[in-house]
Amino acid sequence: MAKSQYEGYTCQAPTILVREEFGAAKIYASQAQSLLNKATGFIGSYDFTLNPYRGCQYGCSYCYATAFSPNPQMRQDWGNWVIVKQNAAELLAKELAAWDKKHPGIPARIYMSSVTDPYQPIEFKEELTKTLLQVMLPYQPTLVIQTRSPMIVRDMEILKNFRRLRVNMSIPTGSESVRKDFEPRSPSIAARIRAIGKLKYNIPFNEEHEAKFSITITPLLPTFPADQIKFISKLAIVDRIVIQDFHPTGKGLLTASTRPEAEALKNKYLWWYDNETEKYQQFKANLISQLPDIEIMEGKAGFGYD
Ligand code: SF4
Repeated sequence: MAKSQYEGYTCQAPTILVREEFGAAKIYASQAQSLLNKATGFIGSYDFTLNPYRGCQYGCSYCYATAFSPNPQMRQDWGNWVIVKQNAAELLAKELAAWDKKHPGIPARIYMSSVTDPYQPIEFKEELTKTLLQVMLPYQPTLVIQTRSPMIVRDMEILKNFRRLRVNMSIPTGSESVRKDFEPRSPSIAARIRAIGKLKYNIPFNEEHEAKFSITITPLLPTFPADQIKFISKLAIVDRIVIQDFHPTGKGLLTASTRPEAEALKNKYLWWYDNETEKYQQFKANLISQLPDIEIMEGKAGFGYD
């Protein structure tokens, strides 16, 4: 198969790719070779990761997924391009049928998504994630959805039919001004809290449906002391909270690491980063004391389904 070319990031003409604009991002389409990829490392307790898109319009300053960009130029321009895996539904149907044949009666454990947000803005138009949920439904995988987008509420009626579902809503800070600095294109904190609350109160938890809900504060970003108590009290809607430090900064291009943009932003928040460990421990202690009935987990342990 010819190597994919991305118009705007190469002087060669695109081969199988189309290009259009959506907001500030260039949108490409590709034919993926596989959709379910073996899960390893942080999410090694799953069988597969599932990324409907490559790239992410949210372009968070600290995103470690930039390491998985097709080339250094696109890595540099993270947030301004997305590749839609056009044949995703077809591939997923084939791959789930193959899993089912090989492991009859054992549902696959799927983490969606590890290096993109399945509900980034282009999903509104493409409805690719929604289609993939419909493909998955008959196979009843254990499904974890990681997102920071309230758009997930659109698919609530489909999500209600999964028997083992966990939704992880990313909310790394309780301070809206910090959110605007570190992830200016992402939805507001209030919108995310409303969305996870809506899912929690409308998706049943009973003998047939184990729907669980987490808030992932990963990485924990500065949160002003004046915001902490109020923010933490709003998190009482979920059954688990996961916190984690910043991913270390790596030097290699293919190393998952915090982006230089976030490292630069730290200078604006020295009141936090000069005592980062202490601030992290204080925040964690506040979570534990304010939310005694909620599971507070750290790092890898928090990303499992159970
Ligand atoms: S939403 Fe997730 S994948 Fe997208 S840029 Fe932010 S951290 Fe990266």
